[in-house]
Amino acid sequence: MKVPYLDLKTIHHQIKAELNNSFSDFVDSGWYVLGDGVSILENQLAEYHNVGHAIGVASGLDALIISLHALGIGKGDEVIVPSNTYIATWLAVTKIGAQVVPVEPYHHTYNISPENIREKITSRTKVIMPVHLYGQPCEMDAIMAIANEENLFVVEDNAQAIGAKVGSRLTGSFGDINALSFYPGKNLGALGDAGAILTNDSSLAEKCRSLRNYGSSLKYVNEYLGYNSRLDELQARILSVKLPYLQSWNDDRKKIADVYQERMEGIGDIVLPHTLMGIENVYHIFPIRTNNRDRLQLHLKEKGIQTLIHYPFPAHLQEAYKYLGYKKGDFPIAEEIANTELSLPIYPGMTEEMAEYVVEGIKMFFS
Ligand SMILES: *Cc1c(COP(=O)(O)O)cnc(C)c1O
Repeated sequence: MKVPYLDLKTIHHQIKAELNNSFSDFVDSGWYVLGDGVSILENQLAEYHNVGHAIGVASGLDALIISLHALGIGKGDEVIVPSNTYIATWLAVTKIGAQVVPVEPYHHTYNISPENIREKITSRTKVIMPVHLYGQPCEMDAIMAIANEENLFVVEDNAQAIGAKVGSRLTGSFGDINALSFYPGKNLGALGDAGAILTNDSSLAEKCRSLRNYGSSLKYVNEYLGYNSRLDELQARILSVKLPYLQSWNDDRKKIADVYQERMEGIGDIVLPHTLMGIENVYHIFPIRTNNRDRLQLHLKEKGIQTLIHYPFPAHLQEAYKYLGYKKGDFPIAEEIANTELSLPIYPGMTEEMAEYVVEGIKMFFS
C-alpha cells in the first residue's frame, strides 16, 4: 500500500463537473478581476463565519499583512505571536514594520498559552495574534479576556483551522480582524493562491477593500499606500464551489484522526495530539511527537507512507530572523516541537484502511 501525505486529486475528481462549469462561467463572464465571483464568495464566507464582512485577498500572508495595516500597526508597535508557527505569522508583523514578541505554546495543545501572553505585554504591545495551529482552536475566551483588559487588538491567524469551533462559534470570528488562507493544501484550498480577511468592523472592512486594490476605492483616487492583492476571480469561483463541501471534508479528517487516536494509544514514546474540551478540531495536521522522529519517518517512508514535519526549524532560528539575535534555547518548547513532531497523512478521501496501515507501520517500528 502507498499512503501519500496529502492527495488533492481525489476530492477534485469528485466535483470535477462543477469545477469545469465554474471555469466556463468565468470565461463567459467577460470580467476577470474583482467580478461577481469574488463578491459572491465574500458573502458566502461572511455568512458561513457569521461575521459582517469578508474581503478576498491574494494569499493568507497578505490577509495578515493587510489586517495589521488596516489596524494602523507599524513601527514601534509590538505584536504577540506564537514561538511555534509557520513563518508567515511572523513575516506579516515584520513586513508591516512592527516587532514580533514570541510567546511559548502549551506542551500538549501546541497553541499559544494565555498565561505566557500576560508576561510579555508591555506599553508598546498592540496586538495578540493567536494561531489555531494544526486545526485546533486556541483558548479564545482567555485570549479575548486579556485583550479586553489590556486594550489590545486580536488578529486570528486562521489559516489552518477553517471550520473549527470553540463552543458553537467558528474560529475567525473572535478577533477584531482575522485571516484565512486558501493555499491548496489548507482545509479549504483554491487551485492556486488565495486568502481572505474576516471582520465585523465596517470601517476596517472598507479600508481592507481599498488596501487590496492599490489603496483606492474610487478608480485613480488613492487614499492609502496599498497593494495589488486582489483575490483572483477564478480562484474565488472555485472556492464557492468547494465551500459547501468543507464540513464533510472536515468530517472525513476527523474519522482518520479518530482511527489514529484510538489505535495509537500507548505505542512507544508517542505523544498523541490533545484536543481540549468544548473544542472542535479540524485536524489540518495530525501531529504526533516522538524522540525517534527521524528514524520513524525513514521507517514509514520505506513502507510507502509519506509524512512531513511542521515545522523543522522554528522561526527564531531561521537565517531570515538572525538579526533579532535569538539563539538556541531561547524558546525551548518551540524547539522541542520542531525536533520531535511528525505529521501523519490525513486528508478527505483517505480511507480508514490507509490509516490502519499507518498505525501498523508505526507499531512495527516500536516493536
Ligand atoms: C498557510 C499559512 C499562512 C499563509 O498562507 P498563504 O496563503 O500560504 O500565504 C499563514 N499562517 C499559517 C499558520 C499558515 O499555515
